[in-house]
Amino acid sequence: MKRYWLETYGCQMNKAESGSLELGLRERGWRPAGQLDEAELVILNTCSVRATAEERVWGRLGYFKAQKARAARLGRPLRVVLLGCMGERLKEELLAQAPHVDVLAGTFQKHLLLEALEEEPRAEGGGRLSLTAREPYRFAPRHSPGEPGEFRAFLPIMHGCDNFCAYCIVPYVRGPEVSREPAGILEELARLKASRVREVTLLGQNVNSYRSGGLDFPGLLERLLPELPQSPEPTWLRFLTSHPKDLSPRLEALLAGGGALCRHLHLPVQHGSDRVLQAMGRGYTGGSYLQLAQRLRKEVPELVLTTDILIGFPGETEEDFRLTLELMEQVRFDDAFTYRYNPREGTRAFKLSDDVPGQVKQQRLAEVIRLQRRISSERRRGRLGRVVRVLVEAPSRKGGGELLARTEGDETVVFPGSPQLIGHFTQVRLLQLVGHTFRGEPIP
Ligand code: SAM
Ligand code: SF4
Repeated sequence: MKRYWLETYGCQMNKAESGSLELGLRERGWRPAGQLDEAELVILNTCSVRATAEERVWGRLGYFKAQKARAARLGRPLRVVLLGCMGERLKEELLAQAPHVDVLAGTFQKHLLLEALEEEPRAEGGGRLSLTAREPYRFAPRHSPGEPGEFRAFLPIMHGCDNFCAYCIVPYVRGPEVSREPAGILEELARLKASRVREVTLLGQNVNSYRSGGLDFPGLLERLLPELPQSPEPTWLRFLTSHPKDLSPRLEALLAGGGALCRHLHLPVQHGSDRVLQAMGRGYTGGSYLQLAQRLRKEVPELVLTTDILIGFPGETEEDFRLTLELMEQVRFDDAFTYRYNPREGTRAFKLSDDVPGQVKQQRLAEVIRLQRRISSERRRGRLGRVVRVLVEAPSRKGGGELLARTEGDETVVFPGSPQLIGHFTQVRLLQLVGHTFRGEPIP
């Protein structure tokens, strides 16, 4: 039995693409290794959004170099494959500094990888394969899940980004926006339904820019929603990520309609200062974002609104930073991913001086996190006592006959219940908040 060891870094798109790769590997007779010692193939699917993600992979490459040398001494082949955004961005460095990488693939050639792996491992010191030529991105027909018992799935609908926000490497490593044809999306959705998936997340760097086969994003949702009947059991539909400048009234109306579409929106604001937002090239102001958020809150009262916040962009003053805290207080996000600006070579902001000292970035980030924790907790407390529908995911990590489930807004709930509920929907009353996790009681 051939065994592989796969590590995936970064965004959900990488996770979906790794899912597709695993399906292909299984079809070719590969199985995941329980531990590294059993593997004859190591695959790293990498991320370049922040330097820290890249540094981790460089560290892992060092480790796998030693593992490969050890395996060779034992007469066992170990091939190392690196793919994804680092392969795209750092091809030359990787070829020069990581000679133990046997196959290097960027973001556009992932589909060639499986064939390349069919070839016999090359002799030590032999040629290496670099699959980094640019060609139009191809969507794999399936991304996951391949296993019964996996009931949440990602479904990529578009790839790449045309926005070129000043700080962001994505448009360079993932290339221009491409939308997937509706027929391919419908086919994959039908397969997921047949495998009893209960929650599908449509993926793209900027899903609201979707345009294919005469459909825009709301049009695509209108086409997909009737495919997700709500009885005998529902299938939830979510989407990630939306750009505030492209959110249309039709999409707002669809969210308000509820049904299969989760009332959950991840809408990265990044910052609260108009000056910084303009320098970032985001295409909206703090005021217009607030208006949009207030309208959404009014039209979709149950909406769980989450965001990304990026602190320490070049030139950010204390006043700019305060405006961000103010906007957070006004919008009252249910949750936020918070980041510290990190210069990425090749982006527009890389030419600006990274002038906010590290310690100041750290303090500001800590303040943002503290504020968001308070707001998240207040918003969640406001819902205690309500009965909500949840999708049961797994036994709770602490055991004790408790289950872990997720709400429509992707929040965690722990409650006592039978393991037979795993993979199904049920109703729970939200009773208590422990940290960010709800504790609930089942409703018969
Ligand atoms: N497409 C999404 C959007 O427009 O908001 C976000 C995609 S990006 C991969 C995810 C998050 O990473 C961004 O929202 C941003 O906050 C953060 N990010 C991007 N570039 C960054 C950088 N240079 N330093 C720190 N965080 C960054
Ligand atoms: Fe990056 Fe901006 Fe594109 Fe999001 S919209 S992926 S932040 S360039």
